[in-house]
Amino acid sequence: MPTTERLYYQDSHLIEFEALVTDKTDRVSGWTAVTLDRTAFYPTGGGQPSDTGTINGERVLECIDDEENGVLHVIQGRAPEVGASVNGRIDWPRRLDHIQQHTGQHILSQAFVTLFNAPTRGFRVLHDVCEIDVELTNPTNELIERAVELANNVVWEDREITVKTASAEEAAQLPLRKEPSRAGDLRLIEIEGFDLTPCGGTHAYRTGEVGMIAVRTWERAKGLTRIEFAAGTRALADYRRANKTSRAVATLFSASRDDAPKLAARMLDENKDLHRRVRSLEEIAARVEAHDLLAATSLNDAGVKIVTHVFENRDAESLKHVAQALIANPKTIALLGSREGEAARLVFARSTDTSGDMNVMMRAACELLDGRGGGKPDMAQGGGKKVERLGDAIESALSLL
Ligand SMILES: [Zn+2]
Repeated sequence: MPTTERLYYQDSHLIEFEALVTDKTDRVSGWTAVTLDRTAFYPTGGGQPSDTGTINGERVLECIDDEENGVLHVIQGRAPEVGASVNGRIDWPRRLDHIQQHTGQHILSQAFVTLFNAPTRGFRVLHDVCEIDVELTNPTNELIERAVELANNVVWEDREITVKTASAEEAAQLPLRKEPSRAGDLRLIEIEGFDLTPCGGTHAYRTGEVGMIAVRTWERAKGLTRIEFAAGTRALADYRRANKTSRAVATLFSASRDDAPKLAARMLDENKDLHRRVRSLEEIAARVEAHDLLAATSLNDAGVKIVTHVFENRDAESLKHVAQALIANPKTIALLGSREGEAARLVFARSTDTSGDMNVMMRAACELLDGRGGGKPDMAQGGGKKVERLGDAIESALSLL
């Protein structure tokens, strides 16, 4: 079977074409794939996603490169018959997006080679950003922004981009940015005076069409530097999201957008100070609460005060403070609980001159709460989700004393 003539190789901006259907196959997805004698649809490959569009008005969901049999166009709807003459249309906004990301990648990758001799080892167009994996050994924001600066200058110089074909022997004499991944004649993409690389993708006519290139973030990954970037319309969309986010944060501080980080940092510092202050006040309050609880509790026959109490909305730390303040007094046992939203908490503690295994009591009590807990014979803590059984749990502990 003759393979498909790939019109996108000659013109990346061709969005409408006529062709003949050469083959038709059913897909496992339930849709039908057709092969054409010529196509402007770019199939998934080389890190670039497939084009979408229509064939005779029916949706083309995806195109697949089946090298020997040509390009498969997966059609959602009524597929044309073999031999039919059809009209194909590419979704231009999607193609333009891919042209911008793909050409942007050539430029950014060459910028890393020019400045730092750091080649690109991987490229992916993701849902709303792109990634390149660069052999950059000591990445910093400053180094990466230098490459971004150079890349954008090349974009704004609006350099011409041309496609050439070269034999393997000719190509071997040329300063290609990366090794060809296939044998035979090569398709070379040249950015005037800047970059020359073999590639089968769709590219801009001139670098200006890329618009701009922005790096969102980067990280070290498997010995390489993984750089997340966006070009063209994606860079604008990302700027809009970032601006919306930072303005929303600034509004919370009644500040201008660019002042917000300073104010957020200040508020976090203040928050830490307040936290420390609250903790120290809680210790004072715990001593007062312990005093009141002891005053309201009478001695049992053994001359011990067993203090039981359930608090509202106390975290484990503050419950422990009250328990410690209580058992600082001789002959005292504290069985304390707290309801905190959906969670029940317990702290059991005793002064050293009393007996009873708080750890054993805590384990039994936590079973009733459908939770977990434990500790030492003189101090144990735990909790569970059956808040309504908090009273029963303390009763069960009492019965073990
Ligand atoms: Zn390319």
